[in-house]
Amino acid sequence: MQTKVFHVVIVGAGMAGVSVATRLRELGFAGAVTLVSQEEEAPYDRPPLSKQFLLDGDADAIRLQPEALAAQALADIALIRGNPAVALDVRAREVRLGDGRGLRWDRLVLATGARPRVLPALARSPRVQTLRTLEDARAIRQTLTLGARLLIVGGGPIGLELAAMGLRLDARVTLVEAADRLMTRSAPALIAEHLRRHHVDSGVDIRLGRSVADAPDDGHAVLDDGARVAADLIVVGIGVHANDELAVQAGLAADDGIFVDGFGRTTAPGVFAIGDVTRQRNPATGRFERIETWSNAQGQARALAAHLTDPDNAVPYAETPWFWSDQGELRLQAAGAITGDEQAIRGDPQSGRFSLIQWRDGRIVGVAAVNAARDFHMLRRLVAAGSRLRPEVLTDPQANLKSLIAAAAAPSTPA
Ligand code: FAD
Ligand code: NAD
Repeated sequence: MQTKVFHVVIVGAGMAGVSVATRLRELGFAGAVTLVSQEEEAPYDRPPLSKQFLLDGDADAIRLQPEALAAQALADIALIRGNPAVALDVRAREVRLGDGRGLRWDRLVLATGARPRVLPALARSPRVQTLRTLEDARAIRQTLTLGARLLIVGGGPIGLELAAMGLRLDARVTLVEAADRLMTRSAPALIAEHLRRHHVDSGVDIRLGRSVADAPDDGHAVLDDGARVAADLIVVGIGVHANDELAVQAGLAADDGIFVDGFGRTTAPGVFAIGDVTRQRNPATGRFERIETWSNAQGQARALAAHLTDPDNAVPYAETPWFWSDQGELRLQAAGAITGDEQAIRGDPQSGRFSLIQWRDGRIVGVAAVNAARDFHMLRRLVAAGSRLRPEVLTDPQANLKSLIAAAAAPSTPA
């Protein structure tokens, strides 16, 4: 049954917010749609900010679905820019904006994303920068001139992608990571070690088990072991906080992330949340987690748009999480859990192309692939299906993944 026409207000015009707005129109939703953005910038895609944008500075190339938003009159999506939502009144169904105006909603979508964690000890230094917005990327790009000394704090995807781009721009790059390995949140240890070797071989000075204690005015940074590192620019990439304050103030259940179900429903009727600001059940781990990926923002948006337009026929979002990360010559792609109780390698790490597959209780629960896109797309399907194919089958270089998947998907013959 199609829902009656109403007003959907969406707070945040990142990938999640723009995706739900445009998907509502694609599904023929005839009510009003208002997107509220605190940024002055026309909406843009974030992944290129730590990749191609640092090389070419081409902001036009990264605008989000420009055709849909440029044709606003046609698509009838009202975009309010440079005006943050500052308070919610869930009972009155009204959101207050920074300029004092109030917007009434029938359905509210919180798509406010996340913001970088900062290091208080470095907060005063003008050489310190985080990377989340187009403005941040422009500032980094400006400073990364030939021979610049770049110090990166944090060995997650932000730090490693930036390290690779820093080298491409002829900067001298040092990276400090507090843990004893890289990519603690998003990649298995074996993959992290492969990445570390690649970056070190490329010329990045990586220091594990280290952080930065101070950034005095003498052009150096002081590490927590007292070492001094010359740095013209210090980029801190140590993870994010959910922008969930509006929800918390309004009494919605949240814990550094708004709790949602597969349709983005929060604990307040008529109020939804999607994207990096949410905490949802991760099908790969069974736990409520923040899944901070580009594909998750879009997948949740699609399920929510379907729910808002035709709730009886909508399907909740439950896709196995996946992401990619481009780091110099390496493309990492990963799906599902990062650890299991058994793992095996398909391909040869020496060749630079391989996949690491994880099993738990006999089922495939995760895959991380390096420069092996074809295998990744197949193996991801086995993760999603919770396949019981054994390691000796999948690691056989002669094994044809396509036919194995087809066989695994075929209904079993009755005995
Ligand atoms: P966001 O993109 O953070 O958008 C939220 C928007 O809401 C922002 O514009 C924010 O300003 C706005 N907002 C916040 N509060 C308010 C308010 N009160 N009122 C109005 N507006 C508000 N993922 C991958 O899978 N692969 C990648 O290669 C990859 N690369 C990345 C590179 C970088 C540099 C970054 C930062 C992220 C990358 N990601 C990548 C992650 C991916 O971009 C995010 O998961 C995705 O952007 C989340 O979208 P979102 O809309 O939920 O949040
Ligand atoms: P992250 O949480 O993935 O990694 C942060 C890293 O910093 C961890 O390895 C952690 O151990 C380390 N760290 C934490 N505190 C530290 C400290 N005091 N000193 C040194 N190291 C410390 O976060 P990120 O790399 O900052 O990325 C931020 C967000 O951007 C995430 O949501 C991420 O998903 C997203 N992003 C994704 C991609 C991608 O998927 N390709 C690329 C860039 C950014």
